[in-house]
Amino acid sequence: MNCDVLIIGGGFAGLSAATALAEKGLRVTLLEARRRLGGRAYSFRDDVTGDIVDNGQHLFMACYHETRRFLGRIGTERHLRFQPDLRVDFRTPDGRRTALKCPRLPAPYHLLAGFASLSTVSVGDIFRLRHIMADLAVGDPHARAALTVSEWLRRNRQSGAIISNFWTPLTVAALNESPDVASAGGLAVVLQRGFAGSREDARLGLSVVGLSELYTEAARRYIEDRGGEVRLGAPVAALDLRGGGCEGVTLKDGTRLPADAVISAIPPPALAPLLPDADWLRPLPTSPIVSVNVWFDRPVMAEPFAGLLGTECQWAFNRSMILNSARGGYVALVISAARDHIHRPQQDLVRLAVTDLRRLFPESRTACVTRAFAVKEREATLSPAVGILRPGQKSPVRNLFLAGDWTDTGLPATIESAVVSGHRCAEMILG
Ligand SMILES: Cc1cc2nc3c(=O)[nH]c(=O)nc-3n(C[C@H](O)[C@H](O)[C@H](O)COP(=O)(O)OP(=O)(O)OC[C@H]3O[C@@H](n4cnc5c(N)ncnc54)[C@H](O)[C@@H]3O)c2cc1C
Repeated sequence: MNCDVLIIGGGFAGLSAATALAEKGLRVTLLEARRRLGGRAYSFRDDVTGDIVDNGQHLFMACYHETRRFLGRIGTERHLRFQPDLRVDFRTPDGRRTALKCPRLPAPYHLLAGFASLSTVSVGDIFRLRHIMADLAVGDPHARAALTVSEWLRRNRQSGAIISNFWTPLTVAALNESPDVASAGGLAVVLQRGFAGSREDARLGLSVVGLSELYTEAARRYIEDRGGEVRLGAPVAALDLRGGGCEGVTLKDGTRLPADAVISAIPPPALAPLLPDADWLRPLPTSPIVSVNVWFDRPVMAEPFAGLLGTECQWAFNRSMILNSARGGYVALVISAARDHIHRPQQDLVRLAVTDLRRLFPESRTACVTRAFAVKEREATLSPAVGILRPGQKSPVRNLFLAGDWTDTGLPATIESAVVSGHRCAEMILG
């Protein structure tokens, strides 16, 4: 018997699509190749320390409205904790602390006041932000998308100091790409939705549980409670393509599963072999992320997270504080756009992370490292380079829909993009 909809892939995109369809009473079957759900956003317990490790620390923004709707649906939004007001701490190259602290003023004044609180930003820099604001308000989005972030910032008269101390860390964190490669279009979306929107939307949030606990098992229960099925260890080997349409899939073990509609929620390199003749599916560049998990014998940072200026590691997350663990001292350091680091051996990455941390966090200099390892994500996200073309959710193949952070949602390749794409596929099928 046909199930109504087959969903291929159990990451944020596939699970949000499947739960949205199950909510409306459709019978869904979700097929995941691995023996676990979560794709590129998952967690595991470290056997030695007992702590929960994410494959990479994920930051949420309060403007992730679709992600919050998905988590609300499956009952886990309470695990996200948002700041009362936007605040981003930084450590400067000489180990001093400074912070972008946005007070309770209406947008965009909260942001301007926030910039004024940063010791790394001059009065002239704050004055020159008007060029960025004017470009965002009345600039041509197509012309902007054709520029790299670096070109766009120069055109908008930003100084070298604010580029190094603010725009580069923001671009690398939000787009997982260097400002010399990333399109300014992606940064503009982050600024418009996140920072220039309401004061509430600009707040950052963290999951106080491991990523897998945040959404995978709750989504699976939600689907199963509504008569759907989640199959793990079920790689799809082929799409059943006939007469310009998709009528189901064949698994690697030869099982054929017919369906009225199929949602592919897998990344392009996994989708390409399933659609060998699709000239509309072009390879897309990707960018890696390295996360180094370090345990010290005592707490070494006071902030929940901080941007690191002038070091190879760009952010440090106080995992002990985030997970509310009694034992302090667990820190995760992140290197995004990590092309120069992804091939380096574990011990080099650990040495680099500990050196960076000790340079900027004097508290860590006398603390002993008790355990450390790096997690490498080679194809962490799409690289939002100038000129790339992302396909939309409606594919040229009848009854085949495309979800995934990399599809064209108008957003950078983030959790929110994955969930927006999943919800759009569900809406198209329901419609
Ligand atoms: C280290 C790291 C840090 C990040 N930080 C942030 C952050 O701070 N904020 C943010 O918003 N985003 C962040 N992201 C991005 C975010 O994780 C992704 O955008 C999101 O997880 C993508 O979800 P997805 O469902 O589109 O794809 P995926 O998570 O890749 O899911 C695809 C699934 O399909 C499965 N699959 C593949 N082929 C097949 C097949 N043939 N048959 C069946 N199943 C198959 C895979 O196993 C996988 O489970 C980060 C990513 C990484 C890696």
